[in-house]
Amino acid sequence: MWLFTGVIKKLYINLSDLKEVGARKQVELELEFHNFEFANREIEIKDPIELELEIFNTTDSYVVEGEIKAKLILSCSRCLQEYNSTINLDLTENVVKNEMEDQEELYLDEIIMDNIILSLPMKPLCSEDCNGICPQCGQDLNKGECDCEVEILDPRLAKLKDFYDEEQ
Ligand SMILES: [Zn+2]
Ligand SMILES: [Zn+2]
Repeated sequence: MWLFTGVIKKLYINLSDLKEVGARKQVELELEFHNFEFANREIEIKDPIELELEIFNTTDSYVVEGEIKAKLILSCSRCLQEYNSTINLDLTENVVKNEMEDQEELYLDEIIMDNIILSLPMKPLCSEDCNGICPQCGQDLNKGECDCEVEILDPRLAKLKDFYDEEQ
């Protein structure tokens, strides 16, 4: 059973009920999470993030385990169009007590951002077989062919092309 359910705006979990080593609690919550920037990319978060966490007080740290579900808006690296991507992550974090700003509050911002960043694809694709854009005219080739001449980049094929061009 989850001990807390609801939509909250504050991005921390109160730990005052976890003072004893060995204490643990489960938390289920939805967070309106802000967009953020990473590697010159804007990471856009759609809808509240869903978190299901268990927090466990050990001697030196709080162990946070659980799941994050989030809907992101990413830009396809081939066709540059935005697309929705749903992520579902398992997370395990060890928050060292000595490094905490406030012993009574567990801040979630960084934990959430780090985990989302780790899940991001190096080359986001709207679909595995996205056709991308034409390098010459910029036409989105998922929406249809353009009239540009197709460049033949393979040198063996280029020779063949020369051969046929001469024949004509
Ligand atoms: Zn695409
Ligand atoms: Zn074109």
